[in-house]
Amino acid sequence: MRETKAIYPGSFDPITNGHLDLINRSLEIFKKLTIAIVVNPHKKPLFSVEERMDMIKRAVRSDKRIVIKSFDGLLVDFAKREKGTTIVRGLRAISDFEYEFQMALMNRKLYKDLHFVYMMPSEKYTYLSSSMTKEIGLLGGDIRQFAPSLVVKKLAEKARELGRQKRK
Ligand code: ADP
Repeated sequence: MRETKAIYPGSFDPITNGHLDLINRSLEIFKKLTIAIVVNPHKKPLFSVEERMDMIKRAVRSDKRIVIKSFDGLLVDFAKREKGTTIVRGLRAISDFEYEFQMALMNRKLYKDLHFVYMMPSEKYTYLSSSMTKEIGLLGGDIRQFAPSLVVKKLAEKARELGRQKRK
């Protein structure tokens, strides 16, 4: 079966220029893309699902080809609900490979029709991650080259908020 739609799952805490690079690459292959924010009870995100969704929405400028959703539970169950069989993920370095390899094969055990498509970002984003962006942003560093401007703003607000909480 030929797929016209792909699902791009991730934490997106927050969205970075690396994610945007992958989103644009995906849309060169697939007509539609569902960006799926994973709600993982074991991870403590900096931004709420609503905040993450809002930042993605604004960063992709309400592109009609993109739908943004969130899910908890298994990716395979979400994919089945969405009637999607193609998952897009990014590979930045060898370090991503082992985890992604395991995840793809485990998921295939759970749902044999699920396919994973891996894409490499532009080399200028291969070192970029949400966690480094957060760390630098919260410490007051300049993250304008790493994330869309609204994320830069939101991180500065978070830094102030956390600073206020600390002082209390
Ligand atoms: P997760 O917690 O699922 O890894 P992330 O939001 O960190 O969620 O990443 C989602 C996906 O986007 C992953 O496949 C990750 O490899 C990819 N990704 C994140 N940052 C980049 C980047 N700079 N370039 C390419 N892919 C990236």
